[in-house]
Amino acid sequence: MNFRIGHGYDIHRTVAGRRLVLGGVIFDTDYGLEGHSDADCLTHAICDAILGAAGLPDIGHFFPPGDPAFKDIDSQRLLVQVSREVMKLGFDIVNIDASLIAEKPKIASRIAEMKAVLARSSGLTAEEVGIKATTNEGVDEIGRGLAIAAHAVVLLKRA
Ligand SMILES: [Zn+2]
Repeated sequence: MNFRIGHGYDIHRTVAGRRLVLGGVIFDTDYGLEGHSDADCLTHAICDAILGAAGLPDIGHFFPPGDPAFKDIDSQRLLVQVSREVMKLGFDIVNIDASLIAEKPKIASRIAEMKAVLARSSGLTAEEVGIKATTNEGVDEIGRGLAIAAHAVVLLKRA
């Protein structure tokens, strides 16, 4: 069997007055993430991992920042499209594993929802999506709550 692994990383600055969306789940906060789309860094890291595993260019190539078509777009729509792109190349997504690094808000109680949303967008079951959340122990700008970052790995299999 032909397996392909991919890795993705993303970071966005926190900003007042924007909706916070992580893994497709909306958090009740008075701050969100800065970016052209909904700035869902967890979903963006997963998109890049999927694209990377297939040897495709990164998310910015498919959805250029600044393109009005993607202004404030729900990043689940990007994940749906990215998943379709690799399927067109003959790949199935086997599993996704991701780590979210955020000093705030509290993520743990929302992980099951994130897994369900991300699984639906990528054509997986919730059991095939791993999400861990950690803080940055107060270290650097992520630790001061000025940014939220995410790492993801994805396994693809030739269908
Ligand atoms: Zn991003």
